[in-house]
Amino acid sequence: MAADVDMSGIFEKNRSLLITNVVIDGKNAEIFVDETGKIAGLGENLRAGHKSEADYVIDGDGALAIPGLVNTHTHAAMTLLRGYADDMILQDWLARKIWPLEAHLTGNDVYWGTKLACTEMIRTGTTAFNDMYFFMEDAARAVDESGIRAALSYGFIDLFNDEKRENECRATEKLAAHVRSMNNPRIKASVGPHAIYTVSPKGLQWCAEFAKEKGLGIHIHLSETEKEVTDCVAQHGKRPSALLDDCGILTPKTVAAHCCWLDETECSLMGKRGVHVSHNPASNMKLATNRAMPWHWLTAAGANVCLGTDGCASNNNLDMFEEAKTAALLQKFFWNDPTLLPAPAALAMATSAGAKALGFGTGALTVGAPADIVLVATKVACNTPLHNASSNLVYACSGGAVETTICNGRVLMLNREIPGEDAVLAGAGAAARDLVRRAGSV
Ligand SMILES: [Zn+2]
Repeated sequence: MAADVDMSGIFEKNRSLLITNVVIDGKNAEIFVDETGKIAGLGENLRAGHKSEADYVIDGDGALAIPGLVNTHTHAAMTLLRGYADDMILQDWLARKIWPLEAHLTGNDVYWGTKLACTEMIRTGTTAFNDMYFFMEDAARAVDESGIRAALSYGFIDLFNDEKRENECRATEKLAAHVRSMNNPRIKASVGPHAIYTVSPKGLQWCAEFAKEKGLGIHIHLSETEKEVTDCVAQHGKRPSALLDDCGILTPKTVAAHCCWLDETECSLMGKRGVHVSHNPASNMKLATNRAMPWHWLTAAGANVCLGTDGCASNNNLDMFEEAKTAALLQKFFWNDPTLLPAPAALAMATSAGAKALGFGTGALTVGAPADIVLVATKVACNTPLHNASSNLVYACSGGAVETTICNGRVLMLNREIPGEDAVLAGAGAAARDLVRRAGSV
C-alpha cells in the first residue's frame, strides 16, 4: 500500500475496501468490498471504477485470495488447556486431567480462552467456527468483540439424570435467548447435546425438538471411539447413528463431529438426512481412535464432509491449514489409498463445505457474498514455486502464511497485525495460570 496513506482507521467497522493485486483461482484479480460487508465487485481491473469510492486500498502484493476458513468443531476456550495434559489414554485424560480442571472454570476463563482462540483463528485465516462449551454467554461476548463468526452451543450433558436434564434444557434455552437478544448476524446459537454416552435419549429428543422449534442447528459428537459403538449396540441393540436418528437428531442443520467408526450403512444415513460430518484428524490421531472417518463412503453417500480442529487440549492448535494437510494424509494412510482426499477437496472441506455446514452464506468469493476473505502470502518459501495453489495451500503452507484476514468486510488482521493481540495473550495467559492454581494442580 502507499506509505503516505493513513491506514489507522482500517480496523474499524463499515469501511469500503479495494483489494488489489491478488490471485483468485489462478487469475489476477481485484476485490471491492462495500460498507455493508459484502463483495460488491470482483474482476481484473476494478481500480478505475472503485478507487475513489473505497475508504482504503489494500495491496495484496500477489497474495492468494481464498474464502475464510471454517472450523466446524471446536471447544474454543480449551485454548487455556493447551499443553496441560498430553500423551494419555482418552478416558484417563478426560477423567484425571481435563474434567477436574474444567470443574473450576468460570465465565471469565471462558471469555479469555475464547478471545485467545479467536485471535489464533484470525491469525491462521479462520473466519467462522462451530463451538461447544460452557459459560457460552461469555464466549458470545468474546466472539462479538473479535469480529469473526461463530455458532455457539452449550454442551448439554444430563448423565441420564432427570434433574440434570431439566437444568441442561434451561441452560440451552437461556443461551438461545441470549444470542437472539445480541442480534448480531455473525453469531448464532446451536443446540449441543454432547454425545450419546453423556445424554439420555429423552435429552436427545428434547434437543431435537427445541432445535426444530427455534430453527437452530445441532452440534454433537458421534462415534469417536469403538467403545461408544459397542456400548451402544449392547445397550440399545443399534448403532449410534440409528439411535440419534430415532431421537430426531440427524437433520440438514446437524454437524456431527468425529464419525470415525461409522459403517457404510450409517454413512448412507448421514447422506440421506443431509448431516454435515466434521472430520477432526489431528485430535483423532493424538487420542488414537484407531480408525479414520470414512471420507470416501460419506462423500459417495452425498454427505457434506467438513473439517474441525476439536479443542486445543487435543490438537493442540486451531490452524485449519495444518488440519487440512493432516486430513489429506490420514485418509491416504489409514485407507491405504494415495488418491483419497486430494488437495482441492481438502481445501474445499476447510472452506466451502464448512461454510455450508454453518449456514452463514460464506465460503465462496463471489459478488454478493459476505466478504470473508483471507490473503495468503506468495512471496514466502511455502508458496515458491507456485505450480499449483491448492497443493501449496494444503501440503506446504501453514496458517503462518496468512497475511490478512477479513470477516464480514471488516479487516481483522492486516499484514499480520491484529490490533489488541498483546492484551489478549496477556489476559488469556493469566487466566490459564490462575485456573491451574485454583484447581491445585501445580
Ligand atoms: Zn469435541
